[in-house]
Amino acid sequence: MLKEQLNEVEQNIQQACDKVSRSREDVTLIAVSKTKPISVLQEAYNLGVRVFGENKVQELTEKYEALPKDIHWHMIGHLQTNKVKYIIDKVDLIHSVDSMKLAETIEKEAAKKNLIANILVEVNVAEEESKFGLKMEEVIPFIEKISVFPHIRVCGLMTIAPFVENSEENREIFTNLRKLSVDINAKNIDNVNVSILSMGMTNDYAVAIEEGATMVRVGTGIFGARNYNI
Ligand SMILES: *Cc1c(COP(=O)(O)O)cnc(C)c1O
Repeated sequence: MLKEQLNEVEQNIQQACDKVSRSREDVTLIAVSKTKPISVLQEAYNLGVRVFGENKVQELTEKYEALPKDIHWHMIGHLQTNKVKYIIDKVDLIHSVDSMKLAETIEKEAAKKNLIANILVEVNVAEEESKFGLKMEEVIPFIEKISVFPHIRVCGLMTIAPFVENSEENREIFTNLRKLSVDINAKNIDNVNVSILSMGMTNDYAVAIEEGATMVRVGTGIFGARNYNI
């Protein structure tokens, strides 16, 4: 089951890359394993998956402790400042930086551990009320401010596109995020190189790749539907 689904996602990624003449190596597949038990992650690991995305701090740390140490963990969910300290030295990338308070806390905790935290700025491109993330126009001033933090490296942008029936409806969202990344890089802000675009989920990752995604976050497509009642 898992093997077939993983193969299917892999084929779709390859197809989307082929369609726009991108190299498969330029797209990282993040297996979003939230709510799934450790045994299922181990199964995915045995099939070669090394990059997992989680959205809850406690779940991430539990899985981190239980699973092999060559896994790359990505924090993709909303992050509370008081929990930064639990994951700062466990994750490769925090996708969800959406406030100055959070950036300041990451700076402080990264300094304590003497490391540089790689982060993405979360952008609410569609300006959905229910979603976290900065508005498009807030992003450049925000990045200019946090670019001076010595223990933070701004690596790119992340967005969660709306849930739509037809993934084509999200194409413009992805285009807009890519355009914003081009604008940011044109500013030549010290220490800032926006090279990562984390966009696209199960329903729209092919379109996201066509529009320049370098990371896609796929949960349901790999692991099947989530059950939040267990
Ligand atoms: C759950 C989640 C995903 C994966 O969603 P699917 O539709 O299951 O692929 C991706 N990104 C974020 C931020 C998530 O919370």
